[in-house]
Amino acid sequence: MKHPYLTNDHEIFRRSLRKFLEKEAYPFYDQWEEERMIPRSFWEKMGEQGYLCPDIDEEYGGSEVDWGFAVVINEELERVGSGLVGVGLHNDIVVPYITAYGTEEQKKRWLPKCTTGEIITAIAMTEPGTGSDLANIQTTAILDGDHYIVNGQKTFITNGIQSDLIVVACKTDPKANPKHKGVSLLVIERDTPGFSRGRKLNKVGLHCQDTAELIFEDCRVPKENLLGDEGKGFLYLMEKLQQERLLVAIAAQTASEVMLKQTIEYVKSREAFGKPVSKFQNTQFKIVEMATEIEMGRAFLDQLIAEHIEGKDVVTKVSMAKWKLTDSAKKIAAECMQLHGGYGYMEEYEIARRFRDIPVASIYAGTNEIMKTIIAKNLGL
Ligand SMILES: Cc1cc2nc3c(=O)[nH]c(=O)nc-3n(C[C@H](O)[C@H](O)[C@H](O)COP(=O)(O)OP(=O)(O)OC[C@H]3O[C@@H](n4cnc5c(N)ncnc54)[C@H](O)[C@@H]3O)c2cc1C
Repeated sequence: MKHPYLTNDHEIFRRSLRKFLEKEAYPFYDQWEEERMIPRSFWEKMGEQGYLCPDIDEEYGGSEVDWGFAVVINEELERVGSGLVGVGLHNDIVVPYITAYGTEEQKKRWLPKCTTGEIITAIAMTEPGTGSDLANIQTTAILDGDHYIVNGQKTFITNGIQSDLIVVACKTDPKANPKHKGVSLLVIERDTPGFSRGRKLNKVGLHCQDTAELIFEDCRVPKENLLGDEGKGFLYLMEKLQQERLLVAIAAQTASEVMLKQTIEYVKSREAFGKPVSKFQNTQFKIVEMATEIEMGRAFLDQLIAEHIEGKDVVTKVSMAKWKLTDSAKKIAAECMQLHGGYGYMEEYEIARRFRDIPVASIYAGTNEIMKTIIAKNLGL
């Protein structure tokens, strides 16, 4: 089958990125997991090689490549480990808010450093009291002269500790009716007075990924840091969530492919009752079922990526891919662990880490239940 969006150039790029990761990421990944952090130096090395935000315009430090390159980067990072998700979030979730809604001045100020790794970004929507119900956020940003005064708290923020620049969803009109019309996006920079970091959160998985609380207490943000128009924040978030959810689907599909490959290798090498475990019919059927699920998932996903690159509105199909592929990946992780026997429960086998890491994919970027509510609505139910 002709690949719907990858060319020879993408494959050459993939090979050099993989080589880079074999030198700069794979050997250190376990150490990063133990230290619960990816060093900034890794971000800077990614930047030096052109792996940060390569799709943005050359005048802001990018290479103006198509989004197929972003797919390759996200797949290769996921192959190393799901804990590198913060890099994809920077490249393909946060920075696109600046490229799409930023003023010329904002773009010139921030984007070049986003491509070098000098600026690490984050997006802060979720609060302790509200996640799925985004229009109900309580963080306020009230204009006072030349500044917005921001008060509130955010939680579960990816890149929360390391970030230098955070796109924060807040209410510039807390009394707006309907509520979502009061939401705006503000860019809050490191060292802004009144901004502090809360706890670095301990998670079930994604150990090297930095997830944290952010606190804003009478935080004074220059009004030039408003992104786009006041009151349009919710709309902007909805526009960009298609790509965010597609990225989660890509990561889940890649994780499933990695887990299956490792499990096939394992069952062929492990013997029981005088023959390889792969020769038992149960093993074969389980592997066949997973391989079929993965193959079908890949076909749907590739088509969807191609449509997204063409600029089509594929919100319904992206929501389908997000819930289905993350749900599959969770089941595949459990089956693959089972086929590893006791070794699957040991940390020295990668399946143990994958099993811990994958469940969050059905929670973040909008839970799978929220995906189903979107699909149901778009089906006219
Ligand atoms: C590791 C990690 C990283 C994250 N990174 C970020 C980040 O960078 N930035 C950010 O802003 N957020 C981030 N999040 C937050 C994440 O997006 C939210 O946790 C998620 O959207 C769910 O919100 P919640 O936790 O408040 O759950 P709730 O909204 O309280 O949901 C609880 C349960 O109720 C269900 N539910 C809620 N509403 C409905 C409904 N209408 N119909 C049916 N079921 C419903 C949910 O599906 C879920 O099962 C991250 C979370 C994690 C765990």
